[in-house]
Amino acid sequence: MPTVTARLALMGEKLTPVEHALVEVKEGVVKRIEEAPDAVRDPDHDVLLPAPFDPHVHSADWAFRHAGLGKTLRDVVAPPDGLKHRLMRETPERELEASIASFLRVAKRFGCIGVADFREGGVKGVRIGLSAADAVENITYIPMGRPTRPDPEVVEEELKLLADVTEYVGLPDVHLPDDVLEAIRDSGLRIYVHANEDPSSVKRCLNGYGTTEVERAIELLDPEGLIHLTVLTERDVDALLSSDVDVIVACPRSNSYFGVGEPDFNTLKRLPQRLLLGTDNGMTMEPDPFEEARYAWLRGLPPSRALRAITVDPASVFRLPTLEGGELFGALALDGIDLPWETERREVLCAHVLQAVKWADVRVYVGDSTWRATGS
Ligand SMILES: [Zn+2]
Repeated sequence: MPTVTARLALMGEKLTPVEHALVEVKEGVVKRIEEAPDAVRDPDHDVLLPAPFDPHVHSADWAFRHAGLGKTLRDVVAPPDGLKHRLMRETPERELEASIASFLRVAKRFGCIGVADFREGGVKGVRIGLSAADAVENITYIPMGRPTRPDPEVVEEELKLLADVTEYVGLPDVHLPDDVLEAIRDSGLRIYVHANEDPSSVKRCLNGYGTTEVERAIELLDPEGLIHLTVLTERDVDALLSSDVDVIVACPRSNSYFGVGEPDFNTLKRLPQRLLLGTDNGMTMEPDPFEEARYAWLRGLPPSRALRAITVDPASVFRLPTLEGGELFGALALDGIDLPWETERREVLCAHVLQAVKWADVRVYVGDSTWRATGS
């Protein structure tokens, strides 16, 4: 696969449209991308864009599809005895593993090249996820593990064991003792945590600790990424502006499913953090990054930001294959679609691509491998 050509490519950090695009790939790595009208007379594809990635999922919940329908978020997901945790304890490991592999295969059908997975069940849970991902070709699987016992006496030891199997901690909430959160902060692992997802749990945090969940996370965990921010008060915005948080992952469809509100994209898009979009809970949402991006676009996120939030922005956070010189090649090719009348306007093109992926013929490229997907 020395070159891939397209009538139009969305390239670089800002998804800049380039017509007659030629991408040279050597040993799976992008050597150059350029506009080459003379060389690209009969292009391979209509559109080429960076490959999508799902930066926040709970893959194991796929085994219990819609088990929580009509129930509150707290009843379904709150550890240790929320519905999903009870179901997980009752489910044999091999069934969970098979279900995670099935979830990853479905993500691939949507053209998704990988996921960052909040894996429950400590070290064992991470191992189950890794083993499931081994059975699925060409998927980038990033497990984010969590300690099983929020006890200051044992948490450090468990974090050391976690560090042997993953670079990441994925915490369900900040309603843990200060010293446990501080031990997690000091573990050296990259920390992602749910925060301000549910108004009632933000209220409990304010009553119990005198801070919002966002403030408590920033103060005691110093996380790399915060997930949800469905509730976003002025004090949260102030805390975020003066924090070292790099990443926010919004999951608007999952929030709507549970009726906890929706992220305020008009505020989120102005914050300095990198904004990603994840599909969240496999029990409730299918791992389709494009569907999440369309949903966010129609709620205030410009089309290019929505498309970036599932492609180039997660690629830069997690160092994923993408459509960028010097990086491992990771792209989605769309065929059988018309281009809009205004091909130089990025927002028009990104809006079109977000929808056209539904009816296009889709091909995925990762490194030297390529396969067909059904699209979104
Ligand atoms: Zn989540």
